[in-house]
Amino acid sequence: MSFPDLDLDPRLERALLDAGYQKPTTIQSAVLEAALEQRDIMASAPTGTGKTAAFLLPALQHLLDFPRRDLGHARILILTPTRELAEQVCQYGKKLMARTELTVGSIVGGRDFEMDADLLRGNLDILVATPGRLIQYLEDEKFDPRQVEMLIIDEADRMLDMGFMPAVERIAGEVRWRKQTMLFSATLEGRGLDSFVERLLESPITCEA
Ligand code: AMP
Repeated sequence: MSFPDLDLDPRLERALLDAGYQKPTTIQSAVLEAALEQRDIMASAPTGTGKTAAFLLPALQHLLDFPRRDLGHARILILTPTRELAEQVCQYGKKLMARTELTVGSIVGGRDFEMDADLLRGNLDILVATPGRLIQYLEDEKFDPRQVEMLIIDEADRMLDMGFMPAVERIAGEVRWRKQTMLFSATLEGRGLDSFVERLLESPITCEA
């Protein structure tokens, strides 16, 4: 498979050229087609395999295919286990959306709560968040879960190890109007993820790096 086969928006194709990517990595080939058809995805992909673009590209394509008419809260929610990873995903998103008008922001623990609340009030298309912090904003009604159309859970195995899965499940319950869910994990085997996968994903396609 090549990137042109995917019929991505030309602005995304340009961003891929700018990044110097010549062809999809194994996990990108496995994920992109099904994800672009709005299927739920369960992907086993360690860091370094190109997993971030595997979930960011379908998210960006969705936003470009179905532009928003009015300003509002984020339509794509990406959950990561750590602040550092949230920041990395956010920076990577900025790179891939550089030729579009789309916006991405992150809210993580340890930053000023009110300043990040301002960020949520702005016009944000993609929100990258750590679960505990996002729950605080949901409880304060500073984030509208009804606008989320796609939920992406990155490094689900680490979420499980760090005890974040109850928080992730609670958030997934709040964003129940979503149309698509993608779960990425370094490994899917023997980690006790099965019950979460069953509750969070609907007839998922399994993809491996
Ligand atoms: P990740 O697994 O998302 O952390 O990505 C690992 C590295 O692979 C990052 O430095 C990306 O810039 C790079 N990368 C992602 N997709 C491709 C691709 N299709 N071709 C070459 N490099 C890529």
